[in-house]
Amino acid sequence: MAPSSASTSAPASKSSYDVDLFVIGAGSGGVRAARIAASYGARVMIAEEFRVGGTCVIRGCVPKKLLVYASRFSHEFEDAAGFGWTVPQEPTFSWPTLIANKDREIDRLEAAYVATLERWKVKIVRSRAVIEDAHTIRLANGDKVTAGTILIATGGWPHMGPNIPGLEHAISSNEALHLPELPKRIVVQGGGYIAVEFACIFAGMGSEVTLVYRGENILRGFDDDIREHLRNEMQTRGINVLCGHTVDAIDRAGDEYVTHLSDGRKIASDKVMFAIGRRPNCMGIGIENLGIRCHEHGGIEVDEYSRTSVPNVYAVGDVTNRVNLTPVAIREGHAFADTVYGGKPTRVDHADVPTAVFSEPELGVIGLTETQARAQLDKLDVYKTTFRPMKATLSGRATRVFMKLLVDGTTNRVVGCHIAGPDAGELIQLIGIAVKMGATKADFDATMAVHPTMAEELVTMREKAASYSRQSGDQAAE
Ligand code: NDP
Repeated sequence: MAPSSASTSAPASKSSYDVDLFVIGAGSGGVRAARIAASYGARVMIAEEFRVGGTCVIRGCVPKKLLVYASRFSHEFEDAAGFGWTVPQEPTFSWPTLIANKDREIDRLEAAYVATLERWKVKIVRSRAVIEDAHTIRLANGDKVTAGTILIATGGWPHMGPNIPGLEHAISSNEALHLPELPKRIVVQGGGYIAVEFACIFAGMGSEVTLVYRGENILRGFDDDIREHLRNEMQTRGINVLCGHTVDAIDRAGDEYVTHLSDGRKIASDKVMFAIGRRPNCMGIGIENLGIRCHEHGGIEVDEYSRTSVPNVYAVGDVTNRVNLTPVAIREGHAFADTVYGGKPTRVDHADVPTAVFSEPELGVIGLTETQARAQLDKLDVYKTTFRPMKATLSGRATRVFMKLLVDGTTNRVVGCHIAGPDAGELIQLIGIAVKMGATKADFDATMAVHPTMAEELVTMREKAASYSRQSGDQAAE
């Protein structure tokens, strides 16, 4: 159901409030919502207590990807020799130079965000904002602003877990992006996106990396084959992946830290990083004053139009703990503005969101995992391939590409695609279009290969690796 006319009609210029829309948090979701609402004529104010740009720009996707690029040069130097290049025995790397250049780029992007908001006449207030009542926001200096609609877009923050001894020694991804020097040895706890990405970044820079994960295998929720493939590749690159363990304590011993694992093992390192999940920033913004409901698992509860339990208060992005990815927050912010100010009630489709893990090698995935597909479909055909990428033939690098297509055996639709290999993020963006359009395996087969590429394997997989049928409950072919 679309929100009521009270909230869909553009309150711009008619409203007796100071502003039509007050956005709390100038991250990806908040900035998009503010800009689009302003483009519809709403008078918009946005509060940000830290830096405009939020997690993605300031301490997430963007700086992380710049570090990913940097970390991959070490392989390029190594690989070049097989192609005839003479490279210095030990190319040198300056972490401070990288961090300074990265910071300059982040400053540039932040300025661009600010300029965009100003161009649309969005008023930026550099302050924490707390909701006092459904139409009043209090700023840090005590000033109050009234608003017709409030949008909460406060994002999330690293969760550091239970208060184990020495927890104060652990850094999160926030600090990892600003270390004064590259740690020679680092212990990373976690098995999700951030832990895996940073483990690969540090390993690429030359650090000795130990990844400690509590479960059976890293990246729970991803396809089992791809998890296994990535873990093996990471180990081949020298990362010590320890599954089935947690960090119980951290001691400081002079300049180094000693990490105590649950099995009694001790690991010495120069840094210890925790990447064990992020929590929505719901506290201290006054939602309790309004009785706004939160989920059991954290995150502000919203309907399909991002409206909270208070009709004129909305929430988008990580603070709602739906699909915690930047493009999703941007879509949610845009859809909110279209709905409330543009007269176009818009729901965000959270199904089949393509995603990438910027590990080494990179992962790109969309749709169901094999486990999910087997549970949901009557018939399932599995196609998979693993091969040595052409570049590795001359470089001699021990690496393989892995690709898997999951096909609904009843409709022939491709319901899942899982890729581990160079530029998998780029590939999955495009495969994502086909999957969202409902492409069948026959459509993939009818598409001519581009040769020689890795991606051509996606349209040339003819042999089923396995077929499952719910009736028989058995694997029909292998
Ligand atoms: P995730 O939720 O992805 O992973 C958290 C990891 O920490 C899991 O392996 C989890 O284990 C483990 N963990 C949780 N609690 C504990 C604990 N108390 N002790 C030990 N281990 C624990 O979180 P991240 O921090 O990696 O990333 C947060 C979110 O940010 C991601 O989910 C993603 O949405 C987004 N993100 C996206 C990126 C991208 O698109 N490339 C990059 C970075 C982040 P278990 O699996 O057993 O629960």
